[in-house]
Amino acid sequence: MQSGKQNLHPATPSFDVDGTLGRLAKWLRILGFDAAYPCKGPSKGRFFVTRRAVPDQLGAVTVSDGNVFRQLKEVLEELGIQADPGQLMSRCLHCNVPVVAATSAAVAGKVPERVLKTAAEFHRCPRCGKVFWEGSHIERICKRLEDAGIPCSGPRTDVGPASATSNIVVSALR
Ligand SMILES: [Zn+2]
Repeated sequence: MQSGKQNLHPATPSFDVDGTLGRLAKWLRILGFDAAYPCKGPSKGRFFVTRRAVPDQLGAVTVSDGNVFRQLKEVLEELGIQADPGQLMSRCLHCNVPVVAATSAAVAGKVPERVLKTAAEFHRCPRCGKVFWEGSHIERICKRLEDAGIPCSGPRTDVGPASATSNIVVSALR
């Protein structure tokens, strides 16, 4: 049996989120983490995030605060990790799967005409088909994170195609 949560989950952690923590699951997805929800307990190789007291269980992260941003901070601090701004909004908030790049031709008719003409790039959820595009929401997301003490470098305009998912925004964030 290994000890230490960092050893158990070396790279990017994945989460199983307790059914009472829906907003936290959504914000973990906004940060680009794989966050399954709702979950009743931990599954192998994933962290179980819960508000219940879990007696010294490896792989469980217990949050105590009622505020979603402070919960988010609790999780990141517990695991000693930081949000990666390059992963922001790289996942469908509804399906928890990574979004993929889509051409403007492919999303025509699925986004408002104004957006089709002005947005530089589009992404699509391969499961539900929801379309995401660049916009000002991302700045508001970063502001909310930074106000909560969670570092966020904000939208980047100088990244290459490999990081192209960093500047997208979800059409139905709220
Ligand atoms: Zn989806």
